[in-house]
Amino acid sequence: MAVEEIISLLDSPSQKDIEFIQKAYDFALKAHEGQLRKSGEPYFVHVFETAKILASLKMGTRAIIAAGLLHDSIEDGVATEESIKNEFGEEVLFLVNGVTKLGKVKYRGAERHIESLRKFLVAMAQDIRVLIIKLADRLHNMRTLEYVRPDKQKRIALETLEIYAPLAYRLSIRVLSRELEDLSFQYAYPAEFMRTKMYLKSKKEESLPELDKFMKTVKKALAEANILDFKTDYRQKGIYSLYKKLKTHDNDINKIYDILAIRINVGTVADCYKVLGIIHSIARPLPGRIKDYIAFPKPNGYRSLHTTVLTRDGVAMEMQIRTFEMHNDSEFGIASHILYKEKGAVKTKGNSDTNWFMQFLPKIINYFEASKKSGETSPAWVNELAESQEHIKTAKDKDGFMEDLKADFFNDRIFVLTPKGDVVDLPTESSVLDFAFAIHSDIGIHTNGAKINGKLVSLDTKLKNSDIVEILIKESSKPSPKWLDMVRTNMAKRHISSWLEKNKIEIPKQK
Ligand code: MN
Repeated sequence: MAVEEIISLLDSPSQKDIEFIQKAYDFALKAHEGQLRKSGEPYFVHVFETAKILASLKMGTRAIIAAGLLHDSIEDGVATEESIKNEFGEEVLFLVNGVTKLGKVKYRGAERHIESLRKFLVAMAQDIRVLIIKLADRLHNMRTLEYVRPDKQKRIALETLEIYAPLAYRLSIRVLSRELEDLSFQYAYPAEFMRTKMYLKSKKEESLPELDKFMKTVKKALAEANILDFKTDYRQKGIYSLYKKLKTHDNDINKIYDILAIRINVGTVADCYKVLGIIHSIARPLPGRIKDYIAFPKPNGYRSLHTTVLTRDGVAMEMQIRTFEMHNDSEFGIASHILYKEKGAVKTKGNSDTNWFMQFLPKIINYFEASKKSGETSPAWVNELAESQEHIKTAKDKDGFMEDLKADFFNDRIFVLTPKGDVVDLPTESSVLDFAFAIHSDIGIHTNGAKINGKLVSLDTKLKNSDIVEILIKESSKPSPKWLDMVRTNMAKRHISSWLEKNKIEIPKQK
């Protein structure tokens, strides 16, 4: 657990970067001193590993690494906002606070919550870097899930599978989504996991010798054609991804060709097509399995040439051919672009919001278009956002347009939490009373008081994003006509009016 382990993963850090990260390392080590995790390991291991994941994601800016090291220090009460701001500046504090806020969200297995949770995470993250730190944090928690109580394991695994892994996938950070999926699959659906794992193992043992043999043939053919700048390896399909594919292929493993795939990375796009030609000249391609995702990228931006060929021994072998740059993109997705962006420009607090949003947008729109084509229903918020794309194309250069769009899209809703961490999605200007009725009409009717973030407030208090709201009820409490002026949602209005009517309490006429 030496700081060098992190530093060595960075791409040419400056002396200042190294000093900054060293300082965060020392700070976190001291802050978490004496704290232990469920596994019995020092707590510091967790924040250290989170920072290491971020460094290996090529998220090599010092602010992100430092925030990774410090991400639990405020939450755990071992450091204050003040001290982080003084030692590491506003940017790191902003990131740490963002991650702390996201930590309050919990998934409780209700289908109807999934989409609002994903939306909540995206809205709350404000800055995509916060989301990525949260994903790295979650990955380390998943890697150490065996030490957690079994009933909690299942909840955390489902939450990861339904919320975090798809987010990583939509951001096309495949290195994260793959591992998150497989780790959570194991805990969420153990029987299916074991079965799929056995499939994968037997298939791998069967094909690996053939793959090695064919790889040698390919390398030789490339060298003969004078293509020297290339790298080959193979990738194995993730267990969860195989499971999903099996479900759509009659559970017949013989219908799935890409369990193992040979990857060939080359320097240029022209070389990609050259390599494809060479491969087809040494092995017969299977019809209908040649895919040109370079000319026609996948919805999440993935670019590559795919083909499946039959080796001389009659084994079907999938080949994936792409440039080094495309490979990097497909593994690290949006993460690689963030680093690039940060190197080019000094980030200021004011515009980071819209920048990340701009980057995220094409991915959401592509996702929307693809799901429309495939007939899959996409979530409402994606549709809303994608429908604005025409405006985006025409109004890209207008000042403040993105600000407005973001305001319209996210700011007409607020997301607040129950004390247990359930997300409740309400229109802006909603009050404590709206919240109570959104939970349950019975709770609304008997509301007697409320707390926001632990402090007592009046019932007409307007809610803000990420407020934690607790409703105090009393059997004898009941609505009064005044309540109608305190709520914004129609649902609350309806419940109050009908209760007043039923109890013959007159509603004063409005002038
Ligand atoms: Mn953590």
